[in-house]
Amino acid sequence: MVNYRYEFIDRQRVERNVAARFVKWRADFTAETGLSLSISSGVRTAREQRSGYLRYLAGQSGGVKWAKPSESSHCEVGPSGPRALDIRDSGADAGVTVKGSTRWQIAVRLGGKHGFTWGGWGVPDYEGWHFENHAITVGVYQDMPAAPAPVPGIARPAAMLAWRWTGIQRMLKGTGRYAGRIDNDPGVNTVRGLQSFLNAAGYARRAIGAELPVDGALDATTCKAVQQWLTQKWGYAGPIDAAPGTGTKAAWGRAEAANGRAFAAVSRSAGARMPRPPGLFDEDGSASAAWVRQPRRWRRPRPRPGHLTGGPGRVRAPHDTGAPASGRPRHPSLTRRRA
Ligand SMILES: [Zn+2]
Repeated sequence: MVNYRYEFIDRQRVERNVAARFVKWRADFTAETGLSLSISSGVRTAREQRSGYLRYLAGQSGGVKWAKPSESSHCEVGPSGPRALDIRDSGADAGVTVKGSTRWQIAVRLGGKHGFTWGGWGVPDYEGWHFENHAITVGVYQDMPAAPAPVPGIARPAAMLAWRWTGIQRMLKGTGRYAGRIDNDPGVNTVRGLQSFLNAAGYARRAIGAELPVDGALDATTCKAVQQWLTQKWGYAGPIDAAPGTGTKAAWGRAEAANGRAFAAVSRSAGARMPRPPGLFDEDGSASAAWVRQPRRWRRPRPRPGHLTGGPGRVRAPHDTGAPASGRPRHPSLTRRRA
């Protein structure tokens, strides 16, 4: 909703930018004719316009046509905002109100210098007085506060590359998805390993409805799949929006730290692939055993009974609502929570 500002000229409400142009037009008109130009009708509220429209429909408008509010440029709700003026002059005869008259032609010529043109959509010829200004922007003012700047730090997915990756690299390497160095410097192969993991564990499909291309680009879709993973496993409670802000970063930090510990044996010098310790780790390498020693302040609420479908013998770590301690992870309680 535009907040229009108005001035009053000849006791008529006039949008401020239209008014500034009208004042110049009026001065030019006076200089040339010695007469004053004035406004007989400026901006009307929708209520005022509707009232006139109803009088017109009832044949009580003195023969003057009134448009609906939505069709009148005298109205805020009109087709292009309030930019119409009805004018008259101080001469002895009808002057500028008569289309084609001498003073009307002067008004048209001078008004054109300031953006005013006669008529408008549906305006009949007998309304010689109706002008609109479509050369200006209504509703925008120089002294208005600038539009709010973009929230600083709306994070781009690539910002994640500056986060800590050591534990992620260890997890990826330990699960055979990455064969490079553990250097906390995520290159294409590290991101490809992450994408492979996000695809295999179903996070990509859940986040974006498809698998990620394993192309090493940390783009919006990869970021969303990461957020899905962090939502399901690491206490992220924000939106899946590809804007990795503080919530995403904090959950990433938890995942990175825990996986770093769980795969501590995957060192800089480790070989290509470490066998996955059976029973200790989830598919993503989040270590149940390591995790239970962590602070619990962010722990997700316990799921309601019935959300868990695990069979006999399942071991559920306190932080983990769905993934079995061994075998493929399942996430029966995946309702996304928002902060
Ligand atoms: Zn009019």
